[in-house]
Amino acid sequence: MAVLEISNLHAEVAEEGGETILEGVDLEVESGEIHALMGPNGSGKSTTAKVIAGHPAYEVTGGEVLIHLEDGDFGEDFEIPADKRTWNLLDLEPNERAALGVFLGFQYPAEIEGVTMVNFLRTALNAKLEERDELFEDEDEAEAESEDTNEDAAGYDTSPMEGPADEGEVSVAEFQQLLQEKMEQLDMDESFANRYLNAGFSGGEKKQNEVLQAAILEPSIAVLDEIDSGLDIDRLQDVSKGINALRDEQGTGILQITHYQRILDYVEPDHVHVMLDGQIAKSGGPELAEKLEDEGYDWVREDVFEAA
Ligand code: ADP
Ligand code: MG
Ligand code: MG
Repeated sequence: MAVLEISNLHAEVAEEGGETILEGVDLEVESGEIHALMGPNGSGKSTTAKVIAGHPAYEVTGGEVLIHLEDGDFGEDFEIPADKRTWNLLDLEPNERAALGVFLGFQYPAEIEGVTMVNFLRTALNAKLEERDELFEDEDEAEAESEDTNEDAAGYDTSPMEGPADEGEVSVAEFQQLLQEKMEQLDMDESFANRYLNAGFSGGEKKQNEVLQAAILEPSIAVLDEIDSGLDIDRLQDVSKGINALRDEQGTGILQITHYQRILDYVEPDHVHVMLDGQIAKSGGPELAEKLEDEGYDWVREDVFEAA
């Protein structure tokens, strides 16, 4: 079981005199749990997601974002050494954060022509696995391996571009099977995966792709920012079904960022948090989301004001 632990996180816009946006965010999400992060526009929800992801527009000025791991988080055979169980994501590159099992939204490579969804997903999965192996490789092994590269006498890499999968990589055939399994779980149409990335997915299809990518990468924790925005009710139900499957089938913990209560009718949260002015102002169970639906956010602000 993995735990994402955000404590006293402070961040500002990364420019001269940049505005402070996060003013001490505390939040803990375990694998298998669904947390809803709600709050009015401009309260800092997306900034929280982007800071977890390592977005360069923000500078972290205090606090920590830790991931705690244990054996089993990366499958039965993957042992996690005692000194590599806790990582501060803030010290890592975005792709390293992903490799440790934190999924931070769909990366849309708009520039790539003629690449199908299926090829893109397989590449993303292999890149993640390779990055993870590097993070957990012990240093002696790494050194031995670096002497054993495919270089010719002049130092050019002679590895074939295509061909059989490298050691530890998911082959085309293995990937086809994995994809089929996941698409069945998500109740997605098979034609989806064979479409080209630049084929102009609709807003709703992009959201479904985001869920599919999370299903393929099998993260311990997925941060989904407004995945419900702009969806009609049918698409909302499809996407919700997918999110529930992430939790139920692979034990992914979900941090579901949303302005509206609507999606929480389909993806029932275990915990609900309200963000105000760059802090978590209130936390509770599903009943908190219902109260927000009925009464809006003003009473939370009044509560906080009275307590201060
Ligand atoms: P939410 O997702 O809760 O609506 P955001 O995290 O997007 O809120 O934004 C919080 C506040 O920070 C807003 O006032 C927004 O204008 C400001 N903000 C966010 N990102 C930037 C940025 N890159 N540059 C300047 N201001 C920003
Ligand atoms: Mg937002
Ligand atoms: Mg850094």
